Amino acid sequence: MLDDDLDGKLFVIKDARSALEHQPLAVARLKQLLNRIQRHHRGAAAVVLVSETLHIPPQIEAQITLLPLPLPRGEEIVEQIGRVCRECDLLVPESLQQRLQAACSGLSQEEIRSALAMVRLQHEQINDAALALIQREKEQIIAKSGVLEMLRVNASAADIGGLENLKQWLERRAQIFRRLGEAREARVQAPKGVLIAGMPGCGKSLTAKAAAGLFQLPLLRLDIGSLLGKYVGESEHNMRRALTMAESVSPCILWIDELEKAFVGMTSGSGSEVSSRLFGYFLTWMQEKTGAVFVIATANNVAALPPELLRKGRFDEVFYVGFPNAIERGAILDIQLRGETLELDDEQRRQLVSQCRDYAGADIQNAINEARETAFLADRALTFSDLEAAIDSTVPLRETLREQVAEYEEIFEKLKLKPASRCDGLSVAQMIQMAESANALRREEVARNEDCPDDLLEKLALDPVGEIRNAVYRNPNCPERVLTLRINIDEGAAGFDRELLHLACLHPHAPQDLLASRFQWLALKPDQRRQLAVKSSHESLLRQLLHDEDTEVRVALAHNRHLGIDGQRQLGKDTEDAVRLALAGNPLLSGELQSLLSRDPSGEVRATLARLPTLGEKAQLNLGQTTISTSCLRWRLATLMRNCQRRCRWS
Ligand code: ADP
Repeated sequence: MLDDDLDGKLFVIKDARSALEHQPLAVARLKQLLNRIQRHHRGAAAVVLVSETLHIPPQIEAQITLLPLPLPRGEEIVEQIGRVCRECDLLVPESLQQRLQAACSGLSQEEIRSALAMVRLQHEQINDAALALIQREKEQIIAKSGVLEMLRVNASAADIGGLENLKQWLERRAQIFRRLGEAREARVQAPKGVLIAGMPGCGKSLTAKAAAGLFQLPLLRLDIGSLLGKYVGESEHNMRRALTMAESVSPCILWIDELEKAFVGMTSGSGSEVSSRLFGYFLTWMQEKTGAVFVIATANNVAALPPELLRKGRFDEVFYVGFPNAIERGAILDIQLRGETLELDDEQRRQLVSQCRDYAGADIQNAINEARETAFLADRALTFSDLEAAIDSTVPLRETLREQVAEYEEIFEKLKLKPASRCDGLSVAQMIQMAESANALRREEVARNEDCPDDLLEKLALDPVGEIRNAVYRNPNCPERVLTLRINIDEGAAGFDRELLHLACLHPHAPQDLLASRFQWLALKPDQRRQLAVKSSHESLLRQLLHDEDTEVRVALAHNRHLGIDGQRQLGKDTEDAVRLALAGNPLLSGELQSLLSRDPSGEVRATLARLPTLGEKAQLNLGQTTISTSCLRWRLATLMRNCQRRCRWS
């Protein structure tokens, strides 16, 4: 070539990538040739590099013009189908023409040829099975491109818990998309796409998949990671190819997952050149795309996205997906438990919803999977306790991503993105912002909110305003950690506050062992001790309350079903009738104490005992033999009537 006269010559280098990649000598020779053409044969000779994938060595980049060959469209596809079918004698029924054309869109001439040739091996004419075969072939070809993946999904909007605003918005767009021709005539703009940004594990990908069902369109996933090639120019080429492919498959949904990855380094100021070019290309495409491609872009880190992308007009709408609120958590629980034999009652459901307050949907799913695993290994059906234990032991995403999550939530709030959830109360992002407010009333509102996450309650427990601290300890979801810290502050030490101490002691989440060990020092008022005596189940704490000087406290204790035999013995000897009376009504009273109280000097105690549904035979006999006052006889008779099925022997 060097000696040849180059005028009037066209050099075609096939499979240019393998000819030039890692071949410095070949690249140098090519460069020499290009220089000669440029200097002495301009316009009279040319080199054409043909390659399936783009590879331009940097040394010759300036001398190369890129000419992408688009995939065949509309008429070209029909022509190619007609040609191949004639050649291989494959019949296409009139009724299936359209579907065959749709199945072949997105394929190159050669790919259409090989797909139809493969069909011909099994079928003489196009039918449903043949179309399915082409579809599978196409999925493989698309997957092999390494940039796009065709997903088969069967998610529907019913699989998404909450996110009502987003679901409703998508439903409207789907309706327009289904009637695109009519919509265009009515001058309704064709939907472009939506950006869904927000917390990880909160249903963004799930929504993209459900949208495919809603729109009844194929779903193509664009993998940003594989888009970013290591060669100069490769990323753009990949992006161009992916977008062209999506257009040729249209109508379809193009799901761009983790969109922020395409723009790494752009917002930091250093500005990666590749990312900027990619971004520019993507924006132009979004603006000018003609094919019916509905883009659903999802992103976790909105801070990494260029602000131009969030501007109205690029996407039809930008939605923010936050952590699910109580109603949404309930809906997610129901969805994830669908098909289980376990039926939760209202109280159990409410408890689980409250237990997973700052959980993402993915955390709830993980906890339920773990509970299922536990039940399976124990060879039994799933129970409420399995769920309770699994949720308890799950470390939510929000905990592990604490720093980022707080940052993201602030950004979402600042950008005023449209919330995906329909929320009556406060969202976590709003609460985070309000907890910082200079307005004490706002902070107090957060402290009182039952949906407030633990970390915010911990922060507000140290608030300088007393009412706010107070609201934290009154919050039914005040975390145990906050209560423990409060109970541990000694009198006289900094931060000691008796009112808060007492609120902490009476909180249902207060650690009972700690209360028991510090009981003498707590100086609780009789009414507070009574409240503990009613509900505590801690043995040592109950033992300390047995000797309480206040009768009401001992009465409350006598009612407590967790009272052990020693406690019952102690209260059975109590000099106050009211205490023994309460004990006589305790359904878990032991046989020994029943016998003792059946000989009690107080007729009222004996009458109460007589009504006990768990009354043993010995006590029944004793009660039958004792003389009781006429006023109590009524009790006894009534009991007798009720107990007759027990073969009562004291008639
Ligand atoms: P991301 O927001 O990170 O894309 P995904 O959509 O992948 O999160 O969620 C992971 C899993 O968590 C889903 O497959 C689904 O099972 C569960 N999940 C998350 N959010 C919801 C929700 N709102 N409704 C039902 N399931 C959910």
